[in-house]
Amino acid sequence: MISNKINHYRYLFGPVHSRRLGISLGIDLVPHKTCTLNCVYCECGKTTRLTLERDEYVPTEEIINELDLFLSGAPKLDFITFSGAGEPTLHSGIGEVIDFIKSRFPEYRTALLTNGTLFSDPQVRTHAAAADVVIASLDAAAAGCFKRINRPHPGLNIDTIIDGLAAFQKEYKHRFFIEIFIVPGLNDTTKELNSIKTSIKRIGSDGVHLNTLDRPGTEHWVQPATRDSLRQIAGHLGDVGVIRLEPGALERGEPVEDMYQRILSTIKRRPCTARDLVNMFGLHQTQLQPFLDKSLKEGKIEKKEMERGVFYWARA
Ligand code: SF4
Repeated sequence: MISNKINHYRYLFGPVHSRRLGISLGIDLVPHKTCTLNCVYCECGKTTRLTLERDEYVPTEEIINELDLFLSGAPKLDFITFSGAGEPTLHSGIGEVIDFIKSRFPEYRTALLTNGTLFSDPQVRTHAAAADVVIASLDAAAAGCFKRINRPHPGLNIDTIIDGLAAFQKEYKHRFFIEIFIVPGLNDTTKELNSIKTSIKRIGSDGVHLNTLDRPGTEHWVQPATRDSLRQIAGHLGDVGVIRLEPGALERGEPVEDMYQRILSTIKRRPCTARDLVNMFGLHQTQLQPFLDKSLKEGKIEKKEMERGVFYWARA
């Protein structure tokens, strides 16, 4: 049963029904938007703190206390996922947080969604290695394209990042996936795809996710890749593999007011359509729409029409 105190949590969000990870409780370890990159497609908005410095951006003890409280309610979860509005490996206490989950709640699996830019640091690799699944991004393998898509901190070098990912894959004992976010016109050319393919082969992985714009991105000119183009790219990448993580079923029975708080907390981190929210939270559209309309009227959230529908988000 999901705790009814979720609206008090600052670092946990969801649980949401994730396409890849099933029922996933999110942990946000860094303040919005602290990252090593400033990706043109980022659905959390522009990076306001572009840094390579690892630090205890939010108190590790408070995160652990929140997890202890939430997980003591024995919620049904498929994964506890380190993600949110920034790069989780920037938090110096991530290893401690994963170790806490493993020792106190060994029945839960952890997933790390990372941009992989800090994996050349052996300490980051050691911290990340404690997670049960790691999904690292690699949108470009050539310096020019990397700069255009990911707009990195000036101290980052794509070759060093690829070396770091390869070192991690060699040491890591669990499932490791690479995610490529396709930005039409930037990394979907044969030249860029060949260079990504070569690097992915060098790194090695259990599979590759192809992703594209699904929600409003940071830059309005970023467009989604078509299904046909994604299919062609998958064919081009050929033998680097395809990922499938089966989602679980939604937990039900939570008081609706608490669920509304969780919805706000989720769309603070990433825009969602009403359909996304219905699927994630198991609400009926007739319960959700009045809440969205009321929140719009009160100025708590905003909306924007895109190809996939109307997206709602709350300002951080
Ligand atoms: S998409 Fe991820 S890596 Fe890129 S800027 Fe956003 S949070 Fe950082």
